[in-house]
Amino acid sequence: MNYDKSKALFQKAKQLMPGGVNSPVRAFRSIGMDPPFICRGNGARIYDEDGHEYIDYVCSWGPLILGHAYPAVVESIQQQAALGTSFGAVTRLEVDMTEMITQAVPSVEMIRMVNSGTEATMSAIRLARGYTGRDKVIKFVGCYHGHADALLIKAGSGAMTFGVPDSEGVSPAITSDTIVTAYNDAEALDHVFEQWGRDIAAVIFEPVAGNMGTVPPQMDFLREIEYLCGKYGSLMICDEVMTGFRVHYGGAQRLYGIKPDITTFGKIIGGGLPVGAYGGKKEIMRYVAPDGPVYQAGTLSGNPLAMAAGLTTLKILRDNPVIYQELERRSGLLESGIKRCVRLAGIPICVNRVGSMICLFFTDIDVKDYDTALTSNTRRYADYFKHMLEKGIYLPPSQFETFFVSAAHSDEDIQYTIEAISKAFNHLAD
Ligand SMILES: *Cc1c(COP(=O)(O)O)cnc(C)c1O
Repeated sequence: MNYDKSKALFQKAKQLMPGGVNSPVRAFRSIGMDPPFICRGNGARIYDEDGHEYIDYVCSWGPLILGHAYPAVVESIQQQAALGTSFGAVTRLEVDMTEMITQAVPSVEMIRMVNSGTEATMSAIRLARGYTGRDKVIKFVGCYHGHADALLIKAGSGAMTFGVPDSEGVSPAITSDTIVTAYNDAEALDHVFEQWGRDIAAVIFEPVAGNMGTVPPQMDFLREIEYLCGKYGSLMICDEVMTGFRVHYGGAQRLYGIKPDITTFGKIIGGGLPVGAYGGKKEIMRYVAPDGPVYQAGTLSGNPLAMAAGLTTLKILRDNPVIYQELERRSGLLESGIKRCVRLAGIPICVNRVGSMICLFFTDIDVKDYDTALTSNTRRYADYFKHMLEKGIYLPPSQFETFFVSAAHSDEDIQYTIEAISKAFNHLAD
């Protein structure tokens, strides 16, 4: 396929932005090719500068649960834009938005809007420390909570270790209060609490891990987080930036029946515009300024355009529960189709799915945490990705990401995708 225009743009972009991008994965480094430049999206489709059309399974990394340029969402943005794009003052839209979220997610009684998932988790950690008067935070290997310094740690091998920064420029002093332990390992978590229990302000976790590929939680693991937080007076921070309004209208916490102290949101609640939020029990949220002593602010927080796009998206999801049933059915079709292809091709592959979050790992091991995810053959994923792109299917350009089915993906799209996967597998097998 011809990518001349994208290639030329990327050459220029690399002179202007580090790696030519504004977020690293977009550079396609782990695939080993230049990225196509996307110029338009409609429903489940995106189009690049060179005129190619793709069925999109990235969906802006999760926000676009209704698909690209959903007419009602576009209209609400246009209407709001004409009325003003930002005031730095209170608006009715914020009241409507926060009311919708608290009604959807009962553990969230009060909420603060911010501008990204990163800002939401960073603020949630600050709040947990302020509220508990403790410093230490537990996170799990392979869980991503945005790029705030204290959370930018995956840690090395071993069941548990004090944080070693994953990025240059993060000082060890900042991460020394972050304790990292394995996902889905209740026993390892017990040990951490035994050692540091009364110093732990919070445990932050993805209720479905979606940033090391897709890794479903084990129920005993979620229960143990809840139990230990209760026992030691630590706060349970459920990072639903990806799963919120994705795996269920009430988030993963409704799906699994857990009741976190603080929940973070982003992605879907902005309807494709930049957004984030953190919320929880009133008693805790009242610690946030100006009610309380934990400072947090934002010039564009609760931005009217983002609120309008998000509100429209959430209303559509709330008023059409059939959307989640259809997402489940179509994603199930995709999953069983992939599994059929896997059997026919005889390639070792692990398929993980929770609702419309799916991932396939090129490994014969059940992927349940970071170490097992790492057993995947990433060279093979890159090969597979390129075959799929050629057939007009746009997958996440990295093995360790989730792909998303949207309400705009039709049965025909899914069928076409399965056929493409089958062909791609045959080429891999050769
Ligand atoms: C995407 C994501 C974030 C970060 O959100 P940004 O808006 O990219 O800053 C945080 N946590 C989880 C679970 C995410 O998936």
